Amino acid sequence: MFSKRGADYDRAGRESALRIVWVYPDLLSTYGDQGNLLILAHRARARGLAVQPLQVRSPDRLPEQADIYLLGGGEDGPQALAAQRLNADGALHRASAAGSVIFAVCAGYQLLGRSFFAKGERHPGLDLLDLHSDRGPSRAVGELAGPVDPRLSLPTLTGFENHGGRTHLGPEVNPLARVTAGVGNDGATEGAFRGAVLGTYAHGPALARNPALADLLLCWATGAGQLAPLDETWTDRLRADRLATLPGG
Ligand code: GLN
Repeated sequence: MFSKRGADYDRAGRESALRIVWVYPDLLSTYGDQGNLLILAHRARARGLAVQPLQVRSPDRLPEQADIYLLGGGEDGPQALAAQRLNADGALHRASAAGSVIFAVCAGYQLLGRSFFAKGERHPGLDLLDLHSDRGPSRAVGELAGPVDPRLSLPTLTGFENHGGRTHLGPEVNPLARVTAGVGNDGATEGAFRGAVLGTYAHGPALARNPALADLLLCWATGAGQLAPLDETWTDRLRADRLATLPGG
């Protein structure tokens, strides 16, 4: 029996399946980030949890009752449009206030902040994370890695980054990781989290490369203290392969 943010539900109970929403596949889906949805669904089902995945395109209303919302990377124009539509919709703000998990990558991460730059202009973000993004001196492209905040008890973060923006964290968020390879937020830190909202520059897809992070999101969404271990032969190989490409790896 898992407890989903207060409401107990049965492992077999269809009505109370874990609802995972891919936000705006038409705008925010670069670099295979939708793989994050596949990984979460797979790892949840492998633990006997029923999953209801949902893709919501940007002209449509977002549901407010989902357990996990996923946002991916995007080019500047689609990113600005996504932020505008999410602010007008308001459902993501209400879901977050109710405790839903949000996991966002790159453009999706930037737009959760107070503001970001796209196409030479500053755009208002969703203000769900205390951070803002501006433009860096060059595009950050390549492997991204570093040790994660020890409070999250996760192994080294590994991903692939490709962004022009730089992100500056305010006092109300925690950096997700320290950067030992790549740029991340600003060359020193990478990603951010507060409560059940977590953002990263890591593509890859991030949750394929960081299955322990996928499980952390599932724990947050279900209220489970821990999840049954899975066979990690292939994910361990993928991680070892990517980390070995780094200097000193
Ligand atoms: N448009 C943003 C930037 O270049 C995000 C890019 C991305 O999502 N890959 O910073």
